[in-house]
Amino acid sequence: MNKQGMLIVISGFSGVGKGTAAKRLVEKYGYSLSISATTRAPREGEVDGREYYFKTVDEFRNLIDYNGFIEYAQYVENYYGTPRAYVEKELALGHNVILEIEVEGALQIKEQYPEAILIFISASSAIELKDRLTGRGTESIEVVNKRMNRAREEAESIPNYEYFVINRDGALEECVDEIHAIVTARRKEIRLWNDDIIKMQNELMSM
Ligand code: 5GP
Repeated sequence: MNKQGMLIVISGFSGVGKGTAAKRLVEKYGYSLSISATTRAPREGEVDGREYYFKTVDEFRNLIDYNGFIEYAQYVENYYGTPRAYVEKELALGHNVILEIEVEGALQIKEQYPEAILIFISASSAIELKDRLTGRGTESIEVVNKRMNRAREEAESIPNYEYFVINRDGALEECVDEIHAIVTARRKEIRLWNDDIIKMQNELMSM
C-alpha cells in the first residue's frame, strides 16, 4: 500500500461547522488534524495549542521567513498558517491529515501536493449560514458582516474544489461519513495503490 498519508483539505464558509466536522473525523475515523497558527485573538474557551497556536504578527512573520508554513493566508485582517513540521511528520508516518483552511491556502496546498483532496463544506442555504454565524454569539455584527462578505468571495472559489459536501442542520454524522467515504474511495485509486499493484504483478509473474 502507498505508505505516505493523504492530505485532506476542508474549507467552507465561516460558521458552517467545518471545525466540528474535522474534530469528529479525528474521533470517529482516526484522522490527524493539523493545528494552525493565527494572529487572531483567542475566542472565549479557545486554548493555545488546542484550537490554534496564537501568535503575534511578528512571531507569525518570523515563521514565514523560516519556511515554517506549508501555506498561509490572510483572512479578515488576520494571518492563518499551517505549520510544516507536524504535517510532514504525520504524512511520513502514513497518517491522513486534515487541514481546515480557507480557499487561498487550499490552492497553495494543491500546487505543492497535487494528490491532496479538496473538499468544500457548505450550509444548505445562505440564510442558514447567516443564522449560524449570528447564533454562535461569539462575533460582533461587524465581524459577522465581514464574514458574510468573505463568504461571497469564497463562493467564487468553489469550482477549484473537487467535492462539495453539505453540512445540514443536525446532520453532522452524515457530513462526516460522506467525507470519510470520499477519502476512502480516493485511497483506492489505481495510482495511489502503485506498490500493491506492482507486488501483485510481480507475484503473478513469478508463479
Ligand atoms: P476562524 O477565525 O473562524 O477560526 O477561522 C477563519 C478562517 O481561517 C476559516 O475559514 C478557517 O478555515 C481558516 N483557517 C484556519 N486555519 C488556517 C490555516 O492554517 N491556513 C489558512 N489558509 N486558513 C486557515
